[in-house]
Parts: sequence; structure tokens; C-alpha cells
Amino acid sequence: MNLHEYQGKQILESFGVSIQRGYVANTPDEALECSRKLFNETGTKIYVIKAQIHAGGRGKGGGVKIAKSFDEVKEISSEIIGMNLITPQTSKEGKLVRKVLVAEDVYYDGDSDKKEFYISVLLNRSTSKNMIVYSTEGGVDIEAVAEKTPELIFNEEIDPAQGILPFQSRKIAFNLGLKGSAFKNMSKFVTNLYMAFEKSDASLFEINPVLKSSDDKIIAVDSKVTIDENALYRHKDYESMRDLNEENPVEVQARDSGLNYVDLDGNVGCMVNGAGLAMATMDLIKLAGGEPANFLDVGGTADSERVEKAFRLILQDPKVKAILVNIFGGIVRCDRVAEGIVSAYKNLNNINIPIIVRLQGTNADKAKEIIDNSGLNFLSASGFDEAAKKVQSAISWQKGILFLFLAPFWHFF
Ligand code: GDP
Ligand code: MN
Repeated sequence: MNLHEYQGKQILESFGVSIQRGYVANTPDEALECSRKLFNETGTKIYVIKAQIHAGGRGKGGGVKIAKSFDEVKEISSEIIGMNLITPQTSKEGKLVRKVLVAEDVYYDGDSDKKEFYISVLLNRSTSKNMIVYSTEGGVDIEAVAEKTPELIFNEEIDPAQGILPFQSRKIAFNLGLKGSAFKNMSKFVTNLYMAFEKSDASLFEINPVLKSSDDKIIAVDSKVTIDENALYRHKDYESMRDLNEENPVEVQARDSGLNYVDLDGNVGCMVNGAGLAMATMDLIKLAGGEPANFLDVGGTADSERVEKAFRLILQDPKVKAILVNIFGGIVRCDRVAEGIVSAYKNLNNINIPIIVRLQGTNADKAKEIIDNSGLNFLSASGFDEAAKKVQSAISWQKGILFLFLAPFWHFF
């Protein structure tokens, strides 16, 4: 589950990490209220208005702006709320901004230079350890730093059984070139950041930039946080942080129907029971020259209601050119599943792509009969190989049609 910047900062604060203070607003009037509150609390006269969407690079896209008066707060937030924000991390269409974070300005001038760093905590699956990735070159272009000057990006592995040790947080502060109170503050910042990552069951905490202010404070200016969904049951207070507006609507619908569905980019939809068989089916599709359009595990009880819901989900994707149903009847009987598939097909009555059905297990023969005698646009298969071949011919047949259609115009291309 991804969080908004302001939600990530709430979690950081609860673990004692110092953050750029701010309040979230849904309307320009609320934004004005937020800035008045900030003025009363901190005395700040400059405010940063930041679009809250689940994507980074907002500064580049015009989603982060400075306001130097209450009037400007209202003006800028009315521009940003409701705008369609396009950043290097959104799709071409961009994302609708529904909320802004009104934050205090922390880039004020003072006794020492300001400096922006990059710090993130994540899991390194290949070493089974957590990892703190950090760089002196924080700000907006960390991807370019990683590509052009990878030597400026450091990492520190943390043994999850031991947690972060004092020498590690000091080493990070040292490598970031800090001294005196900035050094101490950074060391504390890193320790608390690691605690936040661990205790919230996150898979990512990325803070870019971490600011060393001109009075040597170390402050989280931005936050990108992902919480492991499987651990959400331990964090009831984070559940309300889910923003369905930011999530893939088909995946939200699938979750509501109790189906495990992940949207992918390919052209062959798959409906499978069991995660292992679903993974194998995706491999099968690739071997047949297709690309899976989704991962979908309909679960153990593949009854007609669930099958119909699953078809509806898959058919919402216009890229799908064929569907492969691959179900093993262990607990469920294949003939029941076949009846479910036939009745779902009839209920949907707008399916105009081939469906390859492979049902194996209890009553598989009866199931094949039901599919073959349905008079509908099904291609039944018994083996994995046969299923793969039928997927292949279904998609190449369509490519063939496209070719026949385009061939007379070839000299225009
Ligand atoms: P992102 O573009 O989505 O990563 O959004 P950030 O929260 O990182 O903000 C983008 C940039 O805005 C930062 O790198 C800062 O340079 C700038 N910024 C953020 N807060 C302040 C602030 O309080 N004052 C000033 N002057 N600039 C800020
Ligand atoms: Mn950022």
C-alpha cells in the first residue's frame, strides 16, 4: 500500500523523525486555514504548497510551489487542487490532484549552508538484509545521479536481527560530510528513520530530500512510503490511510470481490485457481509467444459467480485478445466449473475474443464435454502443451487478420 507524502510524514513524526511541518487541505479555503495555523505555531511567513498524489517528480511538473503570503497560499492552492499533474512518474494522462500539503518553508537562510541529501530504507532481497541507501546528491534528480555518478550513492546493510547499530548511523552522517550538531542530528535522524521502517512493516521509506537546514537541523522534506499489505492487520491505524482514488480501479474491484488480481501489460488474460498454477500459466503464455495481461487467482471455490466476476475484470482491459482459463479441480469439481464458465459467458453476452479452457482434475472429461457442446466460442484443451498451442494460434490468427487488413496499404508505411 502506497502512502501520500503527508501520511508518510505522520508516521515518521510518530517515530521521532523531524519533518517539515504541514497540514493537508482539500480546498483553497482549508489551505488558507492551514497556513494561518502554521504561522501561529512556527512564525513562518513562507509556505510550500505541495500536490498530494502517489507519484514523485511533482516539483518538475508544477505540483510544488512557494507562497509568500496568505493570498498567494489561496491563489496557488486553487491552481494546484483540481489540476491534472503530469510528472516523469505518472502516465501521459497525469493524475488529478485532490489534496495539497501546506508546509512551512525550511529553506531559510542562516549561519551555515543548506544541503539536500537522499536517504532511503528498503529490503535487499538478495542478501536478506535491510539496506539504507544514501547520497550527498539529494534533491530532485536522484535517478540521474544513480545513472551518471553511481559512486556518489552509498549503501549500508542492516542485519534485521540486530537492527541499526550506533556506529552505522554515525558512519552515514560522516559519509554525508556532516560535523558538530548536524552530525549528531543526522545520526539520530537515520536511527529513527530505520525504526519507523521496521516498526511500521514498510517495504520502502524514501526521503528525498533530507535537508540540512541553515541552523543545522536535519529534516524530512518529502516522503515516499510503501507499507507491506500483508502486515496491515498489525496496523489498524494505517488502514484508513489507503486512498482508493490513487489505486488501479480494476484491482480495487478485484479486492472487493475477494479475487487476487494484478494488472499487467500483455494481451492474454488468465483465469487460474491457485497462485502457483497462475505463475506457471503466465510462463506458458510467454512460451506461446503471448504476454500475460494479468495475474488472477480465483481461489479454491471457482463457482460460477466468481468465474463471472473474474471474466468481468479481465474483459475491462481492452488489450486482452484471448483468455486462458486454467483450473485444477481438486476441491471443486471440473464439471461445476465448466457450468460456471458457460453460464458466465452467456450472462456477459459481449465476449468477442477466443477463450481457451483447460480444466484438469475431478470430472475433467465431463467438463470438456460441457465446454465442447456449449456452442460458444471456446477452445478446450487437456494438456499444458495443447493449451499453449491454442493460445498461440488464437493470437497469431488475430495478427494474421491485422496483416491481411493492412497488407494492401503496406506501401504507405
Ligand atoms: P517531488 O518533486 O515530488 O520529489 O517533491 P519534493 O517534496 O521533493 O519537493 C520538490 C522540491 O521542492 C524539493 O527538492 C525542494 O528543492 C523544493 N522544496 C520543498 N520544500 C521546500 C521549502 O520549504 N522551501 C523551498 N524553497 N523549497 C522547497
Ligand atoms: Mn522528492
